[in-house]
Amino acid sequence: MDTFDKRAVAIEAHGVVKEYGEGSTQVRALRGVDVTVEGGEFVAIMGPSGSGKSTLLHILGALETPTAGSVAVAGERYDGLDDKRLTTFRRDHIGFVFQFFNLLGSLTAVENVMVPALISGRRDEALTARAYSLLERVGLRDRADHVPSELSGGEQQRVSIARALLLEPELLLADEPTGNLDSRAGVAVLRLLREISSTEGHTVVMVTHDPSAAAMADRIVFLRDGEVAGEVEGGSTESVLDFFMTLAPAVDEAEPFAAATS
Ligand code: ADP
Repeated sequence: MDTFDKRAVAIEAHGVVKEYGEGSTQVRALRGVDVTVEGGEFVAIMGPSGSGKSTLLHILGALETPTAGSVAVAGERYDGLDDKRLTTFRRDHIGFVFQFFNLLGSLTAVENVMVPALISGRRDEALTARAYSLLERVGLRDRADHVPSELSGGEQQRVSIARALLLEPELLLADEPTGNLDSRAGVAVLRLLREISSTEGHTVVMVTHDPSAAAMADRIVFLRDGEVAGEVEGGSTESVLDFFMTLAPAVDEAEPFAAATS
């Protein structure tokens, strides 16, 4: 579509609607979401449970296609593609970091980083060298030959970030990347995401329910009831919390963060 800017904009989603089911059981998970992310930006997505965060992440990640609306990465639209084409698009353009790392237990760290190359049939020397240099980048060159059970959770997550970057995706999507880590390991992972965005120009979109994790991003987009409810600049956990509290007026005051925990 000619309105997409291929230079500055990494992701452009317009009027994204996602409906599940039909008739009386139909759920409108997204009701016309617009999100634009610039190349090299680090954006966090927050919102109460059920607000549509996972659905939006799945659509941005080419795991699902929207019911209506458009979505493009680097100027290339992928709404409406069938499953086979979505799979190819995902492989070529998007790197994923998951809450539970999703490393293969029988493979070493470097072999795990190489998995996207194996899937794409591109196991060559340049990519092998890149896998080692990415492990160096995430501080784990000396653990290249260790299997996941010999690594801490934080180390496994850093391996998974190296894996996500192997094929130089235009977009890195992180789904609760610190959700299974202690706070020290979580901070190391967030710093890494922050750095690969600010100093290396990777575009990162992260779903999180943790206000201090979200505050590490350049910008936080808040969802409520399947719509964008607003956004704040990153940098301050307090301003993230302040905005979040305006989204959930019905939350029991005794448990102010309960609505944010899924
Ligand atoms: P969040 O990640 O913010 O908790 P979700 O994107 O998981 O929100 O869900 C948004 C809404 O869509 C919820 O009402 C949820 O029950 C519904 N939903 C999500 N996935 C499906 C699905 N596969 N089938 C039916 N309803 C779904």
